[in-house]
Amino acid sequence: MRLMKALVFRGPHKLALEDRPRPTLLEATDAIVRITTTSICGTDLHILKGDVPSVTDGRILGHEGVGMVEEVGASVAGFHRGDKVLISLITSCGRCSFCRKAMYSHCRAGGWLLGNSIDGTQAEYVRIPFADTGLYHLPTEADDEAVVMLSCILPTGLECGALNGQVKPGDSVAIVGAGPVGLATLLATQLYSPAQIIMIGHDDHRLEVARALGATQVMNSSDGKAVERVLALTQGAGVDVAIEAVGLPETFDLCQAIIAPGGHIANVGVHGKAVALHLEKLWASNITLTTRLVDASTTPMLLGMVQAGRLAVKKLISHRFALSEILQAYDTFAHAAQQHALKVIIKAQPKAVAP
Ligand SMILES: [Zn+2]
Ligand SMILES: [Zn+2]
Repeated sequence: MRLMKALVFRGPHKLALEDRPRPTLLEATDAIVRITTTSICGTDLHILKGDVPSVTDGRILGHEGVGMVEEVGASVAGFHRGDKVLISLITSCGRCSFCRKAMYSHCRAGGWLLGNSIDGTQAEYVRIPFADTGLYHLPTEADDEAVVMLSCILPTGLECGALNGQVKPGDSVAIVGAGPVGLATLLATQLYSPAQIIMIGHDDHRLEVARALGATQVMNSSDGKAVERVLALTQGAGVDVAIEAVGLPETFDLCQAIIAPGGHIANVGVHGKAVALHLEKLWASNITLTTRLVDASTTPMLLGMVQAGRLAVKKLISHRFALSEILQAYDTFAHAAQQHALKVIIKAQPKAVAP
């Protein structure tokens, strides 16, 4: 049995870098991809805290990746050994009733599986089910580090944030949460030309990054006065779109407190606890509340924009580690404020299997 290095979830607050059997094809629609670049998502930190019960002891984490196709099953038509690929976090059969509605995140045979209910990408190799729909071709010269931002955070910010929030030209938008997904949402939101984007967080370094990436105002909410300051910036009306990119009851409360009549609250954050929905205040406010698991249906469009140099995705990267240093990478990402961490890149460089 050939072994590989992999980052394994060992229950809440426990991770280990282990030698694991290299994945093999299980279905004719599978591909095996040799990972060259992966990353750590905020969702992985939620998993580590125990917020995502579908992830069980022994699971290899990770749902972001760029790599080279090593092997394909007999019915994979669009990919061959040696192809450079982007891995989508969403697995989709392309045929079921949800896939036919482009709601790939709820595919009856797929959805968010990688690093959740099947082994993920924080390893030297990964098995990708339904490879024809879960992988995207990349030119060999594509920049791994830019493109890996499209596995999860850019489609998430665009679909769950900007699109679900229906951001329009001239809108006022507040993004609550200046972590990597919040910052990706900031990039995606600007594709729709809002007049005002207020970035709210509690980490001054990340807020400065947000300002450099196009936020019109940034606000540290640690003083508990974010609501009154947002209202002051919007002539007392509140914002047209409030995007929740944290996943905590207090940040969801903040969105409810700053939404203008007719506004959209778009939830992006992964919530592990119940929140209070303040219908006693909002019942007459004509608001829309949306939730979504990213479908990654916008990945081809985003790939085109990144390839054309139209999205500054590499500004989201703060650190780089080798796969052998991934525990240190998790530690850095988990202590983002002290470490000034945004996205951390993990480089895996396993040797290709001889043909
Ligand atoms: Zn993610
Ligand atoms: Zn499906």
